[in-house]
Amino acid sequence: MENIYCQGCGVLIQTTDPKAPGYTPKSSLEKEDILCRRCFRLKHYNEIQDVSVSDDDFLKMISSIRNADALVVHVIDIFDVSGSLIKSLQRITGNNPIVLAGNKVDLLPKSTNKRKLTQWLRSSANEAGIKAEDVFLISSTKGHGIEELTSSIEALRQGKDVYVVGTTNVGKSTFINRLIKQSTGYSDVITTSYFPGTTLGFIEIPLDEKTALIDTPGIVNRQQIAHYVSDQDLKIITPKKEIKAKVYQLNDQQTLFFGGLARLDFIKGDRQPFVCYFANELPIHRTKLENADELYNNQIGELLSPPDKETIGKLPEWTTSTFRITGEKTDIVFPGLGWVSVSGNASVAAHSPKEAAISIRKSLL
Ligand code: GDP
Repeated sequence: MENIYCQGCGVLIQTTDPKAPGYTPKSSLEKEDILCRRCFRLKHYNEIQDVSVSDDDFLKMISSIRNADALVVHVIDIFDVSGSLIKSLQRITGNNPIVLAGNKVDLLPKSTNKRKLTQWLRSSANEAGIKAEDVFLISSTKGHGIEELTSSIEALRQGKDVYVVGTTNVGKSTFINRLIKQSTGYSDVITTSYFPGTTLGFIEIPLDEKTALIDTPGIVNRQQIAHYVSDQDLKIITPKKEIKAKVYQLNDQQTLFFGGLARLDFIKGDRQPFVCYFANELPIHRTKLENADELYNNQIGELLSPPDKETIGKLPEWTTSTFRITGEKTDIVFPGLGWVSVSGNASVAAHSPKEAAISIRKSLL
């Protein structure tokens, strides 16, 4: 096939991988103005669709932002902060200011302390080399916090372009689609601009005559649990509604399994509540620590599921992190899954697939 470029975003057209940039069905090649599916959907349905690219391409693409004078909005998933923060984003995008949008806030229990959560996001971002100008908690599906975020974007962009970046699955498309609806209403058609010769695959949504909101492709971060679970399992572990705490009164030498994707051993300490915040559909099993290994070996993918068969094949090896909690109410965070809140003295060992770095934070409640 000769090289054909999308008339919308300039990306090289391909007909083989629907998830990669530039995909268009073979049948569309006959048309006069060839658009990639992403631009086609934007043009005809006013809808942004996420595509993901390889690490190298992604770096190349977002590095080009350093040559722009713009505001960067980094959308992250508050359920998978370590997996969805793009490490060193600041260095990659040059001196452009960054606003952090912590998405999916509608899933948190009502009692969550938003101020503590914002602080935690800010400090997690700092650790990942990102100094955010501002941090917002939003829900792209429900609309919480969107007004505050858009006013801040308006103030900070000072008439410049806005780049929206994020790893896959954080809700970047849902966020942009909401902005599109808000600014245009359903009927207006969005036109994407064409830059001859570019293969960037950025999509531009005009904000006014001179500037645009620019959607960048997502990247699958190896630390994201979404990277190695099957689509079916992802549905189970992703909360769909506000999560309800499940409380387990544990004695030491007891273990909790979260499906078969994470495990928490209560090694030493007084009997106390372990308050678990996970997708309501994710089954939690309690067992004796001495039986935990055997239960895992015999029941992984059965009683302890998810993982399903497909996920088991891709699951990284497990690692263990130990923590000593000394009286201050603390959350043990399993990225992409949820967290367990403990308030007494406790020594615990937390296990999860290697890529998902378990951490602790001051309790958000
Ligand atoms: P993208 O890959 O970053 O573009 O993510 P999508 O916009 O496709 O969203 C990924 C998943 O997260 C979808 O199932 C969305 O419905 C869901 N999602 C996105 N934003 C929110 C939100 O604010 N709250 C909740 N509960 N789910 C969301």
